[in-house]
Amino acid sequence: MLAYIGLGSNLNNPKQQIKDALIALNTTADVQVVGLSSLYQSKPIDGSEQPDYINAVCQVDTHLTALELLYVCQNIETKQHRVREKKWGARTIDLDIILYGVQVVASKQLIIPHPEMMNRAFVLVPLSELESDLKVPVLGPLQALIDQIDISGLIKL
Ligand code: ADP
Ligand code: MG
Repeated sequence: MLAYIGLGSNLNNPKQQIKDALIALNTTADVQVVGLSSLYQSKPIDGSEQPDYINAVCQVDTHLTALELLYVCQNIETKQHRVREKKWGARTIDLDIILYGVQVVASKQLIIPHPEMMNRAFVLVPLSELESDLKVPVLGPLQALIDQIDISGLIKL
């Protein structure tokens, strides 16, 4: 199964955090990182006083189920000392499953497509680097989603 994972960090050397998380993903059994977008910089979405974010999206080829992949992501977050504070607060690393093939998931733990993806330039734009003509389950063509949001604050590094 091909899945997309969004990575984000704004603490403790964000670029290194993202690199470390990619290595951790790729060294997980049954997970191979097969694609990686550029890094992007953006302001915190809630406008609060915290450092800018660095984000990227990677494509993984995996035999894990979506839920197993979520646990892998959460373990990597824990290993990289993510402290869960307030929603949308500063973090060393955040790994979100954006898409898992064409599968639609709506459980207590896991929602796919990621419920905020259509609002986030730092997800949609890197995703389009990897697959510009992607049709997102439920939401429709990726390019149409990008056309509906403001991407001016996103800086490609
Ligand atoms: P956020 O990513 O919104 O800043 P967290 O990373 O703390 O917040 O995630 C909160 C919860 O979101 C997790 O406990 C997880 O169960 C849930 N979740 C639901 N859908 C997804 C998804 N597609 N990817 C990652 N986490 C998800
Ligand atoms: Mg998350």
